[in-house]
Amino acid sequence: MRNIFIILLAFSFVSCNSQNKNVEKAKEPTKEITKKSETKKDTMDFKIVKTDAEWKAQLSPEEYTVLREKGTERPFTGEYDKLFEKGMYVCAACENPLFTSDTKFDSHCGWPSFDEAIKGSTVYHKDTSFGMIRTEVMCAKCGGHLGHVFDDGPKETTGQRYCTNSVSIKFIPAK
Ligand code: FE
Repeated sequence: MRNIFIILLAFSFVSCNSQNKNVEKAKEPTKEITKKSETKKDTMDFKIVKTDAEWKAQLSPEEYTVLREKGTERPFTGEYDKLFEKGMYVCAACENPLFTSDTKFDSHCGWPSFDEAIKGSTVYHKDTSFGMIRTEVMCAKCGGHLGHVFDDGPKETTGQRYCTNSVSIKFIPAK
């Protein structure tokens, strides 16, 4: 009787172990997806390349979420949405000059909007997340996520609307 009990106990261990392996196998694809997206980020050439830990140490939690994890600030909450003073907008992560106040317009969309970026300051990436096809705008120097560009901007100028996050940019007033 005791022997049977030991055999049953041994079987239950084997069974538990194989179940654990199945759980681990089920988790693996998620890890691969993470790796793939990291590779994509790494294959783009940026002058400034930092580890996630270095960015986390440098940026505020909000800046990290938007700039490095491609988050979006809530509309009508950003500090630059309604700012129309003369000056320059630089990348909040690396101070790369991105937009001038001359190109800023009130788009009523709740995010700071520009009809043009400073030449060579931004790079673009096709974004198919959330079931939409959009053009993501990133800082050309550090790869920081700025927002998206749409073709519904002012017709009298470029027709483009660079819809950016206030968190991604920093305003430098004109002297
Ligand atoms: Fe940058």
